[in-house]
Amino acid sequence: MTLLDISRNLDIPPQPAPAAAKPSLVGLTRARLGEALASVGVAERQIKMRSGQLNHWIHNRGATSFDEMTSVSKDLRILLADAFTLGRPEIVSEQISSDGTRKWLLRMPAQGPRTRPAEIETVYIPEEGRGTLCVSSQVGCTLTCSFCHTGTQVLVRNLTAAEIVAQLIVARDRLGDWDGGRFVTNIVFMGMGEPLYNLDAVRDAIAVIADGEGLGIGRRKITVSTSGVVPEMRRLGEETGAQLAISLHAVRDDLRNELVPINRKYPIAELLDACRTYPGASNARRITFEYVMLKGVNDSPADARELVRLLSGMPAKINLIPFNPWPGSPHECSDWATIERFSEIVFRAGYASPVRTPRGRDISAACGQLKSETQRMRAKEREALAAAE
Ligand code: SAH
Ligand code: SF4
Repeated sequence: MTLLDISRNLDIPPQPAPAAAKPSLVGLTRARLGEALASVGVAERQIKMRSGQLNHWIHNRGATSFDEMTSVSKDLRILLADAFTLGRPEIVSEQISSDGTRKWLLRMPAQGPRTRPAEIETVYIPEEGRGTLCVSSQVGCTLTCSFCHTGTQVLVRNLTAAEIVAQLIVARDRLGDWDGGRFVTNIVFMGMGEPLYNLDAVRDAIAVIADGEGLGIGRRKITVSTSGVVPEMRRLGEETGAQLAISLHAVRDDLRNELVPINRKYPIAELLDACRTYPGASNARRITFEYVMLKGVNDSPADARELVRLLSGMPAKINLIPFNPWPGSPHECSDWATIERFSEIVFRAGYASPVRTPRGRDISAACGQLKSETQRMRAKEREALAAAE
């Protein structure tokens, strides 16, 4: 496969000034936009209307300068431009796969004096009739699932709601997708991090993304994937109305304890109970169960039959994910014939069981590979530099 890395000759618009400079309004909730307006002296009775205007210009039209905001008075535009920017996170690199998948490495400014900028990845996956953006919710992850490369990285910090939204803004900028939003139609929280350990920010980000007068991606087109943080699942449903995906990956507690260690805290039975009572789950709004196919570990016909038994009576979809290996990973991907046999058993039990097609493999844009490759390249670059000196 050919790999087109255009990061070096990107036509990237001027980037926001460094951390100490003015804050950006991009990605903020209406409430936060209201606070920003109040801080530059906008009268209380105007806040609601003005924050609606800002939401429209920033999140619906993709404005990159206050001058574009023709429905906002010139005086207010000047006040806003003095205090704020419409800056996006810095695009460190953009890679385009031969299958159209794109991956961006984004640098979020430091959050305070003693913190460093944080880098995260966002992946765009175009498909027939739709386009999915896979966003990150944390920098790194506190959990340590054995098959996931993000799990080998420490948690650096949670992303803010605005930083989560900014991933979609950057994608729309780069895809030229402000005119009707045809390219990014779906959002999945399947990038780096555990979204339910950063639920307040995820909730606010979903509010901004789903706002019909702003970014306008409906809540049913937004899926949040969790490794199984049971106590937060109800709140996710009640406060976001998002679709739920569960990283199940094993049907017995002893094995799931190994693969997805949070299972020791919230075992399979508790997890499935929380799914059964997930607000809004129905046959029309099924819960997706993700199941990564690991050779000789969780891929036997008996596993498939047990999976079907466990999920019986639940409005479920099963998503079989071929394991994406990474350097040093302790697993291999199941053989294709094994995956097909597994899928057949699930299918015969009446479940749709699509096997997720690996996408963007040439740019390491597949699940569980985010950021790690870049860190490796950096290390290699450092070595090369050291050798040259
Ligand atoms: N932390 C959340 C969301 C991010 S991971 C979660 O665990 O659900 C998104 C999905 O990618 C999860 O289903 C995860 O199990 C899967 N995944 C992680 N590493 C993978 C790999 N190497 N190959 C295939 N899928 C992987
Ligand atoms: Fe974290 Fe999800 Fe990776 Fe597990 S699979 S380490 S929860 S990102």
